[in-house]
Amino acid sequence: ISAIISLPSLRHNLAVCTAQFNIANSSGPHAAPKVWAVIKADAYGHGIENAVQAFELADGLAMLDLAEALRCREAGWTKPILLLEGFFEPSDLKLIEHYSLTATVHNSEQIDMLEAAAPASPVNIFVKLNTGMNRLGFEPRDYRGAYARLERLQQRGIVGSLGKMTHFARADDSAEVTREQVRLFNETTLGLPGEVSACNSAGTFTPGCWQSVAPGSAQWGRPGICLYGASPFAGRTAQSMGLLPAMTLRSQLICVRTIPAGAGVGYGHIFTAERAMRIGVVACGYADGYPRHASTGTPVVVDGVRTRLLGRVSMDMLIVDLDAVPQAHVGSEVVLWGEGGPSADEVAAAAGTIAYELLCAVAPRVPKTVI
Ligand code: PLP
Repeated sequence: ISAIISLPSLRHNLAVCTAQFNIANSSGPHAAPKVWAVIKADAYGHGIENAVQAFELADGLAMLDLAEALRCREAGWTKPILLLEGFFEPSDLKLIEHYSLTATVHNSEQIDMLEAAAPASPVNIFVKLNTGMNRLGFEPRDYRGAYARLERLQQRGIVGSLGKMTHFARADDSAEVTREQVRLFNETTLGLPGEVSACNSAGTFTPGCWQSVAPGSAQWGRPGICLYGASPFAGRTAQSMGLLPAMTLRSQLICVRTIPAGAGVGYGHIFTAERAMRIGVVACGYADGYPRHASTGTPVVVDGVRTRLLGRVSMDMLIVDLDAVPQAHVGSEVVLWGEGGPSADEVAAAAGTIAYELLCAVAPRVPKTVI
């Protein structure tokens, strides 16, 4: 089993995202947003170092983990890095200062910590507003007060640049909710100086969305999932958005057998053969990160032919239908998702989850091959 990571596909997807900002821009008076390429969770499972290489044309990288940010610097990334949750300890601030990281500030405890630590070189900050995600961010009534406190720290040389950000909860499925989030963001941040950042992948691919965010301000998009070739929208394929799968999960058949009518397959016998059929065992299971909740019918490609999963996924193996693949034999190539196989979105949908989860859940035991 291996996960093939395609740097050309990652590069291509970044260019497609950037084009969303540029194409849309030709019709309006707005400057095209810069791009924070979101590479949290080990670049959605694709590997931080691979992302650093592939996203060299991005304006910045965004993630949660301080340790991952340091890996980016060690890999030679010199442009901005945004920590999406900011800092939690005074020791984090030392590293932020040393590695010139940009921090999100989303609560007043962080401002207290910043003031107490008073780092010698100014820390660049994005101040997060809760516009309806109800996860991180200051409430609208508290936002301008927090911003003013940070402006005072800016005058004292503790804070460098100050920007404004928010995060969309339903940019993938509700234009109405997103419009209301944008309205609240614009109203609350009106007149405050600084760059702004709002659009995730779904916002990036929603016509008119980024143009509505604080018109006239310098803006950063924050696309994540689309960079990896998956779709943020349930009803819109990544392929139709011009994206390429950046990760291909591949394995092999390790056993082929014929079973009689009435035979049950795998744990719990949740699939029973209606007639005699050929089945194959694939060296890939939930311990590799393949979703256990994928059910009979989940698409899989064997020897270039699209077929289906049968029964329950086990820890190290899964079983597939070979009736449509008469040439399949032990050693035949199996594509679980990605190039030449079903999309991660399709497999995720069949397992009742989203491609985000599949991509970042590929187990460390699965070797990555970079192409
Ligand atoms: N910005 C923030 C704060 C996030 O947490 C995420 C990821 O969920 C993103 C941007 C990127 O989102 P997506 O992968 O949907 O583009």
